Amino acid sequence: MTKPFRCPVCRTPLVEDVDAGFKIPPECPYRYTSYPELCARHDKLYFGKWRKMEADPNDIKRAYGKLAELLAEMSRIIEAEDVEAARRDLANAEEAFARANAADDPYASVRHMDQALSYVHHAIDDLLKAREAKPHSPSDYERHYDVILPFKEDL
Ligand SMILES: [Zn+2]
Repeated sequence: MTKPFRCPVCRTPLVEDVDAGFKIPPECPYRYTSYPELCARHDKLYFGKWRKMEADPNDIKRAYGKLAELLAEMSRIIEAEDVEAARRDLANAEEAFARANAADDPYASVRHMDQALSYVHHAIDDLLKAREAKPHSPSDYERHYDVILPFKEDL
């Protein structure tokens, strides 16, 4: 038997995420969550090193790539759901993300990426609300990450 390459619940690759200090738990922490993949990806960015003072340009560039993937995934999911608020928040996230250019100016991009991530959080909550689920709270999952708290509070 080979180990699955990705978590069957949240689709997280089953390798340690060095950027977020994510340790592979025995059971997926997102198993009781709606939209586990979106929440897991969000949290890996939320707790990521790129948001911290000691981030280096490569941390920011990698986060930029992950954020682009998350936005693409959200766009696929939101297209299939009829949740107007989520569409609006995703559009706001994409707009903020478009102002970031991690390749040319990583440090100036952090603010825009941070804003995009915050809108992503709103969009996830919009989707959860439509399913009458409770809002997503990264702090519920904090113990699975080697967390030094982000230097900026999420909106
Ligand atoms: Zn998982």
